[in-house]
Amino acid sequence: MRDWPFAATSGGCSACRRGLADGERCWSVLVEGPDGLPARFDFCEACRDRAPAVSLSRWRTINREPPKLPRAVIDPDVALELLERLVASGDEAERKLAYLVVLLLVRRRVLAFVDAEGGVLTVRRPGRAGRWRVAEHRITPDELVAMDRELGTLVALDAASSERPEAVAAEPTETA
Ligand SMILES: [Zn+2]
Repeated sequence: MRDWPFAATSGGCSACRRGLADGERCWSVLVEGPDGLPARFDFCEACRDRAPAVSLSRWRTINREPPKLPRAVIDPDVALELLERLVASGDEAERKLAYLVVLLLVRRRVLAFVDAEGGVLTVRRPGRAGRWRVAEHRITPDELVAMDRELGTLVALDAASSERPEAVAAEPTETA
C-alpha cells in the first residue's frame, strides 16, 4: 500500500466509510497529500459530490482487488533522462507519458512536488537545481500500473544493483 496508494481502489468510500463491493462503480481522485505526495481517495456514487474540488486527477473506476505489482528498482538518473526526452517531445502521447513518469518518480521520492497550477505540474529533484514542468493529463490506475512496468523495463538498475531495494527510496545522496 505504501508504494501504490493510488494504483488500486482503497476498497472503501472516503466520505461515508462504507466498504465498496467488488465490481462496484466508484469515483477516484488524486490529490496532493499533506506530505506533498499524491494521495488517492475513493468515493461511492452517492458521495461523489463530496470529493475534493481541487485534484491532480479524477476518474471513474470500478472497485476491485489491488493488482500484484512487481517492484522494479529504477535508476533515478536514467529515469530523469527519459523524462527530459519526453518533456521535450512535441508528441502528445509522449507528453502524457511524461506526466505519468513524474507521478511515478514523485511516488518513489526521486522527485518532489513544487506546485500544480493552471494544468501544469511542477516538480523538483530534492537536493538539486532545476525544475520539471509537465502538463496534467487524465490518467487511470491501469495506465499507471502499465507505465510502472514500462518504467521498470526502461530504466531498471542491473541485477546486481537491484539487490538494494532502498536505492531509490531515499533522498539522492550522490554528488552531481
Ligand atoms: Zn460514500
